[in-house]
Amino acid sequence: MDKFLEAAIKQARLGRNEGGIPIGSVLVINGQIVGRGHNRRVQQGSAILHAEMDCIENAGRLTAADYAKAVLYSTLSPCDMCSGAALLYKIPQIIVGENLTFQGPEAYLRERREASPSRLSIIRTALT
Ligand SMILES: [Zn+2]
Repeated sequence: MDKFLEAAIKQARLGRNEGGIPIGSVLVINGQIVGRGHNRRVQQGSAILHAEMDCIENAGRLTAADYAKAVLYSTLSPCDMCSGAALLYKIPQIIVGENLTFQGPEAYLRERREASPSRLSIIRTALT
């Protein structure tokens, strides 16, 4: 399996071990993980700490040039908020572990390929 998706799954397991919702994410630039995160809604009582938001936050403030080279990995199809964050920062590629448990606005992400080069890949893998 893709080592970065494995890293995202590791984040999901961390979240599960904390009693949270098991979704993980990593942000990769030039083959390096620059941010890791997992869903912390339960742990933090947060409305917005989805795995992708936690990951993007943990990566810190990056330049547009950095985001333009980034790949966002998530174990689960990104929701409206997280898809919106990826579009906002023009992250050109999103790689998703699975979209059977939940499916975000994938059609919209694909449609926006005209406006931004977002590519969306779904790898069917289950968190075990
Ligand atoms: Zn989300």
